[in-house]
Amino acid sequence: MSHEDPVFDCKQCGECCVGFGGTYVSKEDILAIAAFTGMSEDTLRETCCQISANGPVLAVNGENRCVFQKQNICSIHPVKPRMCREWPFIPAVLRQPGNWRLMGDACPGIMKDALPEAVYARTLAELKKTRPGFIPEKATAPADAPDKIPLHSGQKG
Ligand code: SF4
Ligand code: SF4
Repeated sequence: MSHEDPVFDCKQCGECCVGFGGTYVSKEDILAIAAFTGMSEDTLRETCCQISANGPVLAVNGENRCVFQKQNICSIHPVKPRMCREWPFIPAVLRQPGNWRLMGDACPGIMKDALPEAVYARTLAELKKTRPGFIPEKATAPADAPDKIPLHSGQKG
């Protein structure tokens, strides 16, 4: 991201990959990660996923970090789950603009004082890229399309 970006400037701190239960994986995510890593789907599910209340999530290691994070870098970047690709431009920001500031407590790249209109417009534009045909009025509940919000912000999921 450019330093000119008025909304978000990732600091590459890796903090968004901390905490159990935040990164839901779909069947498509699992197949893509399996193909990328060379693991079988079963092995991936057994060794790199855990079950949360809303379905499978990426597992965390002994340091409470995603098992795919290596030295603060995502080792599966080309195929990381949609939730990771979207962060921080997630439907929860459209549903409740105040989430932007809350998320900013955990993610230093988020400009908490950015104009709400700019945050909304940018989030909508980014979601239209990651979710073709995305309609903001139908921004779904977490059970259907969970949003990635870091656990240490107290609201991941
Ligand atoms: S927590 Fe925010 S600033 Fe840090 S790596 Fe993740 S997205 Fe970037
Ligand atoms: S898949 Fe990559 S971006 Fe997503 S939580 Fe794991 S290390 Fe972070």
